[in-house]
Amino acid sequence: MDRRIFLGSAVASAVGATLTACGGGGSDPALDPAASMERSRTTTSTVVNPPTSPKSRVIVIGGGMGGATVAKYLRLWGDAISVTLVERMPTYTSNIMSSLVLSGQRTLSSLSYNYDTLRSKYGITTVFGEVVAIDPVNVAVTLADGTVLKADRIVMAPGISFDTVPGLGSSDKMPHAWQAGPQTALLASQLKAMTAGLNHNVVLTIPKTPYRCPPGPYERACLIADWLKVNKPGSKLLVLDANPGIVTEVDNFTRAFVDLHGAVVEYHPNAEIAEVSTDTMSLKTTAGAVFHGDVINMIPRQRAGALVTTAGLNNATEGRFAGVNVLSYASTVSGAGKVHIIGDASATTQPKAGHIANQEAKVCADAISRILSGGSPDPAPVTNSACFSTITMSQASWLTAVFQYNPAWTNPATGTTGPAMVPVAASSAASTGWNGDNFAEMGTWFKTLMADSFA
Ligand SMILES: Cc1cc2nc3c(=O)[nH]c(=O)nc-3n(C[C@H](O)[C@H](O)[C@H](O)COP(=O)(O)OP(=O)(O)OC[C@H]3O[C@@H](n4cnc5c(N)ncnc54)[C@H](O)[C@@H]3O)c2cc1C
Repeated sequence: MDRRIFLGSAVASAVGATLTACGGGGSDPALDPAASMERSRTTTSTVVNPPTSPKSRVIVIGGGMGGATVAKYLRLWGDAISVTLVERMPTYTSNIMSSLVLSGQRTLSSLSYNYDTLRSKYGITTVFGEVVAIDPVNVAVTLADGTVLKADRIVMAPGISFDTVPGLGSSDKMPHAWQAGPQTALLASQLKAMTAGLNHNVVLTIPKTPYRCPPGPYERACLIADWLKVNKPGSKLLVLDANPGIVTEVDNFTRAFVDLHGAVVEYHPNAEIAEVSTDTMSLKTTAGAVFHGDVINMIPRQRAGALVTTAGLNNATEGRFAGVNVLSYASTVSGAGKVHIIGDASATTQPKAGHIANQEAKVCADAISRILSGGSPDPAPVTNSACFSTITMSQASWLTAVFQYNPAWTNPATGTTGPAMVPVAASSAASTGWNGDNFAEMGTWFKTLMADSFA
């Protein structure tokens, strides 16, 4: 199998899927031509048995969007690489589409993926447990039960962790629901139980960038606003954004907040949360303003999964995320070059998104398999990201971007020059407005992406 063609076609078809045909959600992927076409490009029809005499070993930590994909593609592309995937949960719940659980349009079980296919079809060894430490120099991983696993390379894809919110403690009264699971179900039940009408409001907070899924909070706000109109007439949604303005898809979200949902949404920029009170169900901003909500979706500021900090690999974004070389996703911490970090935990110029985690995983798998065969990473990787945003409960907008490696890019914001994945303007776009076709197409895009990662 030719990896260059493989990577290229996966990128091209993903962009094509965004801009042309991505058909409806909830249908059977087996009956979905677009999903089948993508699968035939990105998976094999035969079983890839584990190597009887492995030439090298890789441990992958975290079986989410990045980890599941890198494990699969290391087995597909690697020359007799044995792959062990360590994940704390036996099933993965997708964050993508999880805001639709809040509006009652999806269930959490419909977003649930297990690791059976990765095991049976690709010969990946799975270990379910918590990784508590890694040794970057000796390339070893320690589990909570004391087991130590050794390898030639480690790939970390532990996602994110959340800053503590002063006043919140461990209370679940203000769920973030930004890691799909019990908090998503809790927030959905709080919304359902809320009294409707004037002065019975929902508050949604947006943390400072960089955070997981840039359009995510805005699309959730639109979805909740639309849901409130039908289910809680008279109630409002207060959006408290820690950023100076809407951070992405500005035209669409501005129009949606001001025109479409103007009677329901109250948008406050520069509203960073300083502390909260679960007794009075209130939030105080750093500027001293106080807001109350019957339901509060408090999304805290984010950093890499805790293990990145424990391992001392959090050397970027003011110590929040892991600095990486985007040709291989190897850590830029001295002496830790055999540890690769992908997905939301890494600091790159690409958005923290599931589609990008999938793309980074492929670049990383390709680089590791080349390195372990005595070669060098591809010197010119390309990645892409597609994203649909729910503007109402039945209409969506879209956004797509292609990123290309530039060895000497000058960041206009900081003036610093260095290697980076740079957006290709001619290949990046957003929809003008939103419609029902986009909402339907979102479903096929999602199924295609999840099949590429887990099937
Ligand atoms: C509401 C919402 C909507 C979104 N919508 C979109 C969208 O439309 N499009 C899009 O592209 N992205 C979307 N995203 C973003 C996307 O979900 C994330 O970017 C993506 O999941 C990141 O992948 P990851 O592999 O880095 O982390 P995750 O997918 O979170 O996976 C991390 C895994 O690591 C495991 N783990 C962590 N630490 C350990 C440890 N110490 N030991 C063992 N296991 C560990 C966790 O259990 C988890 O399974 C959305 C996110 C949210 C919250």
